[in-house]
Amino acid sequence: MLEIDHVTAGYGTLTALRDISVALEPGARLGVFGHNGAGKTTLLRCIVGAHAASAGSVRFNGEPIPPGRVPETVRRGLAFVPQGHNVFPNLSVERNLRVSGLLFDQSFIKEVLKVFPVLDERRAQRAGSMSGGEQQMLALGMALMTQPKWLLLDEPSTGLAPVIVRNVMAQMRKVNESFGTGLIVVEQNVPATLKLVDQALILKSGKAVFQGEAGELSAKPDLWEWF
Ligand code: ATP
Repeated sequence: MLEIDHVTAGYGTLTALRDISVALEPGARLGVFGHNGAGKTTLLRCIVGAHAASAGSVRFNGEPIPPGRVPETVRRGLAFVPQGHNVFPNLSVERNLRVSGLLFDQSFIKEVLKVFPVLDERRAQRAGSMSGGEQQMLALGMALMTQPKWLLLDEPSTGLAPVIVRNVMAQMRKVNESFGTGLIVVEQNVPATLKLVDQALILKSGKAVFQGEAGELSAKPDLWEWF
């Protein structure tokens, strides 16, 4: 269980997140939405301990996630893919995967390549020469090399063509189904993400203005009024 318990966080005098609570069962899929500056990235950073909450706490399987100890948090099973192409451009696809899994079971690369056949075909290719969608898949594959229980993704579809977005969303579903990995996906592309997730959270100026089933949100004709 991953529990975000009354988390408030900010930067100096600015409060970026206000009293956010979410409890997620293993393997759940949460979409986090909201305008620019709503606090989405801050929430992900608080969950992995990359940013310290000023109030509240995050617990994973009952144990707190302390701020400032991200490598330890990754070893405990939380992987964070920040916005942008998080690959080593001058290394091959295979080297990227192996470097990411350096402290983990390297044989897991076989499983990752099964989920992403594109990466298997391109294992010798220099990562920087791959397309945006392929690099996004590699970033997902790299995070998977740590065999996470939870995968936190910050705007994985940014800059991708709609057909590639569908592909990346399908790969995330495959990861969730194949390994039981829970997903927390921050996205601007709300319609595409609502097809992937089962729960949704909309943030506005750091506050939760909607929290519930993704299906309930998709059915709302006034969906955009929440933003
Ligand atoms: P976007 O969709 O644009 O990425 P977001 O919803 O992820 O936005 P955050 O990045 O969490 O929003 O930012 C929330 C607020 O905190 C914004 O007002 C932002 O300017 C501010 N902020 C974020 N990082 C810092 C920082 N390092 N120092 C000061 N203020 C920050």
